[in-house]
Amino acid sequence: MNSLLETHRGWVADIFADGLQGRSGEVIGWRALCSCGSWRGRTWLRTDRSADHAPSARVLYCPTGRLDVEPTRLILGEWDYHQLEMQALIPVRLAFQDSASAEQRLVEAVRFVLAAGASWDAVARVIGASSGEAAEQRFSAVMSPEHGVAAGGTDCLRRVVGE
Ligand SMILES: [Zn+2]
Repeated sequence: MNSLLETHRGWVADIFADGLQGRSGEVIGWRALCSCGSWRGRTWLRTDRSADHAPSARVLYCPTGRLDVEPTRLILGEWDYHQLEMQALIPVRLAFQDSASAEQRLVEAVRFVLAAGASWDAVARVIGASSGEAAEQRFSAVMSPEHGVAAGGTDCLRRVVGE
């Protein structure tokens, strides 16, 4: 996942006859791109005939292949929406990160008390699970034996208490 501080900087990239990366041949269209790398605008086509100029269909009259300010602004309009959407999503991303780190803290705390000898029944009472089995099931994916958690911890405790 990208950092919260990632910046979104938009620009208009030329599309060449042999593809976006080709950088050769004539410009056949354009597309807005973003510095985040995870977004790209739709394709706008270039036409040499002024009669074919149709911005609503994303066809722009541009005999030279070099865009003026106004058409550039038009294409970048798609990127404006992307940037606004990304800004609007920041609270969701923050909340998601909070819940992920809270889950991590919970797993570590449960791991710790199990290693210290607490039972799944005791854990169940604290987290509101219906039974020790239910609690164990809730954490089974992250505390499977291959993670070396519950079993190893308990063995460790048994050695400590001399069982
Ligand atoms: Zn972006």
